[in-house]
Amino acid sequence: MKTAEIMANLAAKHPGENEYLQAVQEVLESIEEVYNQHPEFEKAKIVERMVEPDRIFTFRVTWVDDKGEVQTNLGYRIQFNSAIGPYKGGLRFHKAVVPSMLKFLGFEQTFKNALTTLPMGGAKGGSDFDPVGKSNDEIMRFCQAFMTELWQCIGPDQDIPAGDVGVGGREIGFLYGMYKKLAREYNTGVLTGKGATWGGSILRPEATGFGALYFTQHLLHKAGKDIVGKRVALSGFGNVAWGAATKAKQLGAKVVAISGPDGVCEIPDGITDEMIAYMLDMRASNRNKVEDMATKFPEKAKFTAGKKAWSVPCDIALPCAFQNELSEDDAKELQKNGCWCCCEVSNMGCQPGAIHYFQNNGILFAPGKAVNAGGVATSGLEMTQNASHISWSAKEVDDKLHFIMESIHEQCVKYGTQPDGHVDYVKGANIAGFMKVATAMLEQGII
Ligand code: GLU
Repeated sequence: MKTAEIMANLAAKHPGENEYLQAVQEVLESIEEVYNQHPEFEKAKIVERMVEPDRIFTFRVTWVDDKGEVQTNLGYRIQFNSAIGPYKGGLRFHKAVVPSMLKFLGFEQTFKNALTTLPMGGAKGGSDFDPVGKSNDEIMRFCQAFMTELWQCIGPDQDIPAGDVGVGGREIGFLYGMYKKLAREYNTGVLTGKGATWGGSILRPEATGFGALYFTQHLLHKAGKDIVGKRVALSGFGNVAWGAATKAKQLGAKVVAISGPDGVCEIPDGITDEMIAYMLDMRASNRNKVEDMATKFPEKAKFTAGKKAWSVPCDIALPCAFQNELSEDDAKELQKNGCWCCCEVSNMGCQPGAIHYFQNNGILFAPGKAVNAGGVATSGLEMTQNASHISWSAKEVDDKLHFIMESIHEQCVKYGTQPDGHVDYVKGANIAGFMKVATAMLEQGII
């Protein structure tokens, strides 16, 4: 494979789409060796086809705010790859959403979904709608307007959106309500992350964070370590950070930091259950300020403006917020402060310089597409329950999630173990996902 040539072509076709190009570059670098052992992939131009989305829908979303003013946003759905199953992936509502961001996320999703052991292709969508400061009614009106365009593109065997940054249970409820009205069908399987009383899977809200901690446990055991008593610093305070904090505490770790766009809250004695529950209120308020935690629990949490979670001494770092949130300088600071493991929970949370720094300095590192796959995997379990019109118990879902995370870890070990015995989780995850999707594409012919 001529990685440099493919990247140059892609960069010329998609100028300035840096996040998308970054995600593709990372995958191509790690699969190159394996790819070259399969001339049939080269002949069918698998990589050239895999790096481009199957199709992109772009639409205008117009809605009315609480002041009666007309607002217009852009909406997108990117159907990236359907080699191993229907398109599947979340919707992101964030002011910075542009096609490059959703293309990188859709590309990553394709590999991540392949790792879950379930038959799901890759997709992503969303809008540049900014939920910060919006009222509940505004969120509802926006979701309804968004769905009036999106509904034609999706279906339970076609494309199944879910949540992502800025889209949680509340938004999925509003989106589903409008879908049902337009489609005139109670098609529960068309969206995942639904409410527990109308087709949602138990544990779906917790699943990304829980799965990330199960994966972290496997990684630590493989390295002869244990999570009990370890200090964990995590970024964010949304749904993913909430699930991660809950499970980290349950497993005996101490969460010593959470952060937001405004700064960091240091929690020297470790986060409490009350504080974890308060993270949900912070998200629902749409204020997007982690300082609220220190205001609510002044004896337990100390807020510092403008600092990241990576400035707080810890053993394990869990980026749970946004892409590229952890830089090479952050990686150095983490190491200086005693950190020896980083499991990326956000999609592409670490910049390439940070990943290389971790890998070259003996810090255990695993990429988001393996660590955070428990979220979409549980969406897959929700789809199975919807298709068979049943609901599994929490234990059934949790057991399956455990099994899936263990299997993802095993795939990383299988494809990522290096001649000196250490596991390169980036390579492992990328090669495992690639082999599955590439084989399916090959077998389905030139389409
Ligand atoms: N947005 C999540 C992810 O990045 C979940 C997607 C889903 O459940 O479809 O994997």
